[in-house]
Amino acid sequence: MFDGFINSLYIIASIFFILSLGGLSHQESAVRGNVFGILGMILAVGGTIAAKSLDSIGIVIGMMAVGGVIGILVTMRVRMTAMPQLVAILHSLVGLAAVLVGFANFIEPLTEFEGTEKLVHEIEIFVGVFIGAITFTGSVAAFGKLQGLISSSPLMLPLRHWLNLAIVIFCVWLGAEFLTADSLVSGTNFLLIMTLLAFILGLHLVLAIGGADMPVVISMLNSYSGWAAAATGFMLANDLLILVGALVGSSGAILSYIMCRAMNRHFVSVIMGGFGTTSKSSASGESGGEISEIFPDETASLLNSSKSIVIVPGYGMAVAHAQHPVAELTRRLRDKGITVRFAIHPVAGRMPGHMNVLLAEAKVPYDIVMEMDEINEDMPDTDAILVIGANDIVNPSAQEDDDGPIAGMPVIEVWKAKNTIVLKRSMASGYAGVDNPLFYKENNRMLFGDAKDSIDKLVALVE
Ligand code: NDP
Repeated sequence: MFDGFINSLYIIASIFFILSLGGLSHQESAVRGNVFGILGMILAVGGTIAAKSLDSIGIVIGMMAVGGVIGILVTMRVRMTAMPQLVAILHSLVGLAAVLVGFANFIEPLTEFEGTEKLVHEIEIFVGVFIGAITFTGSVAAFGKLQGLISSSPLMLPLRHWLNLAIVIFCVWLGAEFLTADSLVSGTNFLLIMTLLAFILGLHLVLAIGGADMPVVISMLNSYSGWAAAATGFMLANDLLILVGALVGSSGAILSYIMCRAMNRHFVSVIMGGFGTTSKSSASGESGGEISEIFPDETASLLNSSKSIVIVPGYGMAVAHAQHPVAELTRRLRDKGITVRFAIHPVAGRMPGHMNVLLAEAKVPYDIVMEMDEINEDMPDTDAILVIGANDIVNPSAQEDDDGPIAGMPVIEVWKAKNTIVLKRSMASGYAGVDNPLFYKENNRMLFGDAKDSIDKLVALVE
């Protein structure tokens, strides 16, 4: 009777999680999606605590309170631009949890299994710890790269693919030894050696991926963390955790696929690493030349006399917190009868959907926010393009070079418009470290300065 009640709670929670994912797939329904997710989680945690009727309930609630307070403090303090790092470190915790649960489950099982059941349970532990360990160090490496603590260029060890293969084969052998170990101590030793090797594998896999491919790494680790959670669910025989883990794992895998397609990359090539080496022609600034500068009053005149304007936001808009003035500038221009639209590149900013979130926060109407593929062909008919703190996503060398971190990546073809104005602080390159020939084109002008300061000036000048 009580088990039936808990199962019903789990089913309702699962439905909430599925509705949550559905809601998060569109900006208009994202808030609702979050609410569903919160409700699902309340039911899931409440049901699990009730089901276990734990003796140590006080400790569980105490630990949840400590974790909750840390979570609230961290999320209140983290800046929007640091969200990807936060996500990476949260993924690492899921991986670490899978490792710890695996060890605890092996050393002191919740249930004593015999025969085939014991074998299956130990396979679950071994695989769960393996995935968890890769997720843990991979996510820590991703954190280091995103935080700028580790170089964003790929680590190209000689024979790196063979090294990965050797580690995997050795782990399979360790798995066979683990399953046939005749004592708890020898089993634990095999598990421990595999964990250390999986730590190295996770680190190596992510360090081998170049800077511009980081969006795929983030979504891939998201997927791994889901599978690590599902593996934990198998170890603890918790159906809800298996289901939620599988939802996160598969949605992360789909997102990785979407990001790969957006960047014109093969998933397997990205995972194997090695992309992101810099080619001399693109990365060293050889494309140089003369740039023309423009100032806010001239920019405002150009905008005022345009019929059609496209705004391309990038990471710099997030850094400058310019989204609110950008929304105000858009409103003023539209009030004058000018067509204003936004062009969003799938990897703009530092996390999937970064620009959409900022524009939604500033209440820019959704119907003028277009995906790159929807708007690219309209560029030649556009009078003026404002590139606000974007760089790699508007870099023509992505189409011109055969080699380099962004070679082959589809970009927003802003240079085809009648006029482009790039708002940034200096001639520095973007995340991929590639010089941008757009800056030297005849129809381009540079409006130097912090994006928020520049847009504030334009807002005042566009009556
Ligand atoms: P970029 O990093 O290419 O360029 C951002 C530009 O913004 C810089 O050139 C910088 O120039 C400028 N900038 C920074 N601060 C300010 C400011 N306060 N005011 C005005 N300008 C500013 O960003 P993009 O969005 O064009 O491209 C995203 C890049 O990030 C891609 O390479 C992508 O692969 C990578 N990436 C994306 C992730 C994702 O999931 N979306 C995750 C990880 C990486 P300056 O210093 O001169 O001002």
